[in-house]
Amino acid sequence: MFDSVQVVGAGRVGSALAARLAERGIRLDADEPDLVLLCVPDRAIAEVARSVAPGPWIAHVSGATPLAALDPHERRFGLHPLQTFTRSRGAEQLDGAFAAVTAETDEARAAGLALAGLLGLQPFPLADDRRVLYHAGAAVASNYLVTLRRAAGRLLDDAGAPPEALDPLMRRTIENGFELTGPIARGDWETVCSHETAIADAEPGLLGAYRELARATALLASRAEPRESMVVTSTVDATRQTLRRHGGTVGLVPTMGALHEGHLSLLRAARAECDTVVMSLFVNPAQFAQGDDLTRYPRDEARDLALAEEHGVDVVFAPPPEELYPPGHQTWIDVEELGSTFEGEHRPGHFRGVATVCCKLFGIVRPDRAYFGQKDAQQVEVLRRMLKDLFLDVELRVLPTVRDADGLALSSRNAYLSPEERRRALALPRALATRDPRRARELLSADGLEVDYVAVAPFDPPVLAAAVRVGGTRLIDNVVLDEEEPA
Ligand code: AMP
Repeated sequence: MFDSVQVVGAGRVGSALAARLAERGIRLDADEPDLVLLCVPDRAIAEVARSVAPGPWIAHVSGATPLAALDPHERRFGLHPLQTFTRSRGAEQLDGAFAAVTAETDEARAAGLALAGLLGLQPFPLADDRRVLYHAGAAVASNYLVTLRRAAGRLLDDAGAPPEALDPLMRRTIENGFELTGPIARGDWETVCSHETAIADAEPGLLGAYRELARATALLASRAEPRESMVVTSTVDATRQTLRRHGGTVGLVPTMGALHEGHLSLLRAARAECDTVVMSLFVNPAQFAQGDDLTRYPRDEARDLALAEEHGVDVVFAPPPEELYPPGHQTWIDVEELGSTFEGEHRPGHFRGVATVCCKLFGIVRPDRAYFGQKDAQQVEVLRRMLKDLFLDVELRVLPTVRDADGLALSSRNAYLSPEERRRALALPRALATRDPRRARELLSADGLEVDYVAVAPFDPPVLAAAVRVGGTRLIDNVVLDEEEPA
């Protein structure tokens, strides 16, 4: 169809295409070519097209530019080689590559296919009005891969490892057909949490991107097997009935909602380790004292349900208060000694409420495993004692504290902090990082935070725990004492 082609533009793409056409015996210097192929920068296409005298076919090789840029020509098409080109290579760069052909008539489509055949490209049709989406996909696969490689390289560099060691790994991942391996595929969320801690320390600017990618990868991993859609229950009976339909091991993640990455790390672990995942969503009035923040506690059930669904939760149990505390309720679980120290001393009755609601949830859901955060170390300690004392057969799984890039432990209550208070709140992780109660207290006081307590708590494992007030907000945090402080 084309014996002669005038290639306009001698950039990376134009040079490779011209070299291939010359190899195939196409004349490139004809006075009246059959086709004018515009290999100029995208923003120049329209102007160059207008300067071409009518007559021959005209085409551009841009992924993002609509055919209208070739006005006023009517015999026109687009051919976008889906490949990245470098000047140091020649026509062989086209081998094996695909090419998007965009055309408005059958004749133009045939012309596009003919050119793709000459160039040795594998053509596929692309609608002109879908090309922006197509081009976005190409940018993710090619350009953003460069960004990912740069980010990964920085982490290796920080670790004292050679960044170029990543390249064969990246190549093999592609050659292996993008098979998903690694901690997320294995469901090893403890490792993912430890990555986050290390990144927050060495490259805080990369933490957000890492989390988004981990989240997207978790979705990918959980979609590997089709699941029934999530069920939301509000009564004890409906929850029990729903769970009868589910078999295997049951994991329970108790939450008060306003979900953040800390909660999500528990959901991911439960999803990876259990056949059925139940999340409870209940702001438990019994664990709030008069004057606490029960009425203003952040709530966003719609968002929480969407996140639960996204993380592969099977059942969300979201009862109203009167379902768990109906009229006549009078049984309480009081873990007497443990429940009255540290937090318990400052929030009398708090752990009585926590232990009672967890005991109820364990009775309703009958989980094999229940998931809690190390962030609330004393809660874990109280529940462990309760399970032991009441001979309840539930395995406690405790996941590391998830922190923001600046070190502040994630908490639904962080939403109360003004930007200024949030800045001052950073004294809490900084003080705990000393792992020394005396120095920690000095640091907290120096930053003007009101300290409820800061002390070594003899839990399993032992922690340095603290509770402080920043403005009207009470924050708690702890660090495990037998762990190395991140460098
Ligand atoms: P809450 O909704 O505050 O009752 O928390 C529900 C669960 O999430 C508890 O087991 C908490 O310990 C856990 N959790 C809260 N914040 C974090 C965090 N920053 N990292 C890990 N787990 C957390």
